Amino acid sequence: MKDIDQLIKDIESYYNVKIELNDPVLMWSRGYARCVDNIVVIKNNLSYSMTLKVILHEVGHIHCYRNKIYKNYHTFNSTDEYTSRLKYLTGLRAERYCDRFASHELKKWNYRMKYHFPYSDKILVEGYRTHYLSMFKTATTWQIKLK
Ligand SMILES: [Zn+2]
Repeated sequence: MKDIDQLIKDIESYYNVKIELNDPVLMWSRGYARCVDNIVVIKNNLSYSMTLKVILHEVGHIHCYRNKIYKNYHTFNSTDEYTSRLKYLTGLRAERYCDRFASHELKKWNYRMKYHFPYSDKILVEGYRTHYLSMFKTATTWQIKLK
């Protein structure tokens, strides 16, 4: 296996993204993508295979952004009601799309590793709903109008 620094460099040039290792602020998740800036931020000190899998999932978000897939979910700066509502409603589907993307791309980088589809895991989905998705619901008033 190539070392992690070389792997990261190769992924950066293959997908034309910038990868930052960070020991963060990232509370419940292992990484995130800043699509507008073309940057993937990932926790450091993850295992080799976890680093690769998380990066590929986040590259999936940048792929979506570039190709206008789940467009509203990937429009991070927009907090208008319509966008927030769509983010809330389509978020999980968008995440699962990125899981499929990562699973597919993983074969290019390591044919032996298996991707585990975190967004099909009950506990992770619950955390995602509580810590991330809910902010789009509380940030707006659309849910009140539905009553
Ligand atoms: Zn994601």
